[in-house]
This record gives sequence, C-alpha cells and structure tokens, in this order.
Amino acid sequence: MEKEEQSGKVQTDTFLAQIGNHQNPVTGSINTPIYFSTTYEHPTLGESTGYDYTRTKNPTREVVENALAVLENGAVGLVTSSGMSAIQLVFSQFPVGSQIVASRDLYGGSYRYFKELEKRGMYQFIYVDDETAFETAVSDFTTAIFIETPTNPLMSEVSIEKIAVLAKRHEAQLIVDNTFYTPLIQRPLDLGADIVLHSATKYLGGHNDLLAGAVITRSKELGERLAFQLNTTGAVLSPFDSWLLIRGLKTLSLRMERHEKNAQAVTAYLASCPYVKEVMYPGRGGMLSFKLKDASSIKAFLRHLSIFTFAESLGGVESLITYPTTQTHADIPKEVRESYGLTSDLLRISTGIEASEDLIADLTQAFEALK
Ligand SMILES: *Cc1c(COP(=O)(O)O)cnc(C)c1O
Repeated sequence: MEKEEQSGKVQTDTFLAQIGNHQNPVTGSINTPIYFSTTYEHPTLGESTGYDYTRTKNPTREVVENALAVLENGAVGLVTSSGMSAIQLVFSQFPVGSQIVASRDLYGGSYRYFKELEKRGMYQFIYVDDETAFETAVSDFTTAIFIETPTNPLMSEVSIEKIAVLAKRHEAQLIVDNTFYTPLIQRPLDLGADIVLHSATKYLGGHNDLLAGAVITRSKELGERLAFQLNTTGAVLSPFDSWLLIRGLKTLSLRMERHEKNAQAVTAYLASCPYVKEVMYPGRGGMLSFKLKDASSIKAFLRHLSIFTFAESLGGVESLITYPTTQTHADIPKEVRESYGLTSDLLRISTGIEASEDLIADLTQAFEALK
C-alpha cells in the first residue's frame, strides 16, 4: 500500500517503536487491532469505506505495509505470505523470454525457483560472481538484475550503487534481496535499486514464529502494478501474521544491535580457533559462515552444541547453526555449489540475542569434545 506522508520526521528507533500507535482515534488503542473481517460494508451503492475485501486491502496489513515503505524509503510496500511469494510477485512482471542476471551465491530457494522458471521456458538466467562479472554479463538484452548482498552463505558483498549505475545504463530493473541486512544496515532504494524485497520470516519478524515476505518499490507506478498483481494472484499476508510482523518490527533496532555485537564476538573467537580454516563475516549484521579444517568432524561438532540449535533459517532471537550443503542449499547441484566455494566443510551461523559469553562457551565445549 502507498506510504502515508510521515508527519514530522523522527529517528528510526522512535518510528519502529511507534508503529501503529496514534492511528486509532475512536478507541485510542496503542496496539494495532487485528481486523479479521474478510469483507466490509458499503455505505451505499458506489461508495466504500476504502476497504472492500481483505485480499485487496486490510487495515492491519496496511499498517505494516506503510511502515516497511517508510523504513526502506520506498513509495509502496506490500507484504506477502512468504519470502518466496514476494520473489514470485516481483518476477510476475516480466514477459516470457526475459533475461535475468543474478548473483550466483543465492538463497537455495531462489535458485530452485529460478531453475524452475528456466525449465518452463519463462526466462533465461545468467549467474555471476562479482562486480566485474556483472559488467560483462549485463547488456541491453537484460530485463532485470537480481542480487543478494551479502550473499548467502558465503557473505560476499557487491556495491549496490555500482550495479545500479550499470542497470540504469542498460535500462534493466535492479532487485535487491535485503533479508540479511534489513533497512537498518542497508537501504538499497537509496543506493539506486528499483525494488527491495525481504523474507520477513527472518530479521523483520525476528522470532522464528512467522512466515512472511515483503516487497518495497521506489516508484509508485511499479508499486501499483505489483499491488494489482498481488490482489490478482492472492498470496497476501494474513491479518494475524501482519500483526506479528508489526510486533516484531518494534524491536528490530534493539535486536539488530545485539545480533551484530554477538556476530562480531563469535567471529573473533572462531578466527582464533585451531579447528577453523576460514571465517566469512562482512563486518556488519548477524550472519557469518565458517569452514572447519576437518569436514568429517561436522556431525560430532553439531551434536555437541547445546545453546546453538542445528536448524535452517536465520534472523530470530535464538542462535541457529545451519549446514547449507544438506539444508538451505541442498537443491544446488554439488558441482555447482563447490565451483563457487560452497563446500561441504562450511557451516553458517545466525547469532541470536543471547549473551555472547554463552555462545562462545557453547562453541568451545563442542570443539573440545572433538579431541
Ligand atoms: C529465507 C529466505 C528467502 C525465502 O523466504 P521464505 O520466507 O522462507 O519464503 C529468500 N531470500 C533469503 C535471503 C532468505 O534467507
């Protein structure tokens, strides 16, 4: 939904804490009401309260859509039933035969979806590793560029500004999956992207209790086209889940601070750990990956962890450790994965908001059990 004019700019922390407040003059409710009603009474023929049917527009969902548009500094925000449906919504705009240039090191589910689109003859995908490769691959035939920065799980960054210049030169649309950094660390639309999307299941929701996606556009026209598509195809976020997302967003800033502090502490520990070959951390955010010197010890290492949970996903308050080879990235063929460094000795950590001393102690005892 279209962003409402922010009355009197406030700091992001203030904005986050106040999402949904001061919006209910009738009851004065501070917390956003959950409007479960699927349909709305029309005052008379040809008139509407602005709400007709919940797939088209819902008052609870509207609050979170407006908030996300403000946070990402876009014109229109939309929330969907999952991160994957957000990606699917964005791809629904492109005509058959379009060429898409994408980061090679991608979320496994995005890779699987792109393979499926390609198999059905919808689009052609070109995968590239770095800025130089983007320069070579993008041409006037390119319809869109899809990037993750940092990439998942190898944590390498590209300059959104540089790719945006390239996209503009070739009239290609730039789409950024900003799930890992959130708008608190990186605002892709300000750096020249056309669309930013999220798996709101991760940091935006933040509590491992919600599946959701978000799409924010720089231009109103593009946002309206996508809103039309979303209403047509229907993968909107439910009122209850919209409320959970509002609740999660209120503490995003506090959580990100702790996630980052913990990731920095864990990175420093792993970098000095004799069992570890390499640590990949871009210096910001709560995600890091590392490679073990002995890949055959991964099973025992994971079994000995008691505070870290061995599970897929990321961005929640609980620290998780993931084995991309068999979990998030299992759909990428082994040869492809290994060709760009996603090897079977790699583990990925999403640091939660626990005390970093406990996280480091947990890793230490699990390494010691390998002796
Ligand atoms: C999880 C994830 C997705 C997919 O989101 P879902 O909410 O699981 O559908 C997309 N991109 C990235 C970077 C992710 O981590």
